[in-house]
Amino acid sequence: MDQALKNRSGPRGGSRRTTMPLGDKHPKKDVEAALKRAEKVGLKVTRKQNGHNWGALVCCPCTQFVRISCTPRSNGDEANKIDKFTNTHRTCA
Ligand SMILES: [Zn+2]
Repeated sequence: MDQALKNRSGPRGGSRRTTMPLGDKHPKKDVEAALKRAEKVGLKVTRKQNGHNWGALVCCPCTQFVRISCTPRSNGDEANKIDKFTNTHRTCA
């Protein structure tokens, strides 16, 4: 009879996805792409999720870093900031 309905509302509630583990990608595609470019030239991406902070992009040789927001007001601006840092520090690594 209404077996299909009954199955849907089972006690298990279906499969639940857990939140993204640390060390995973940035949720914003533009930012993630910029981080990839940064890693390519030898910069380090550190994950330190804390509130709106997602992590940081670090230039190891000169110890400078730029904070990366988890929820940037503008994805493009955040990506530009990362690209700028990458261009400045690509010669350090
Ligand atoms: Zn540097």
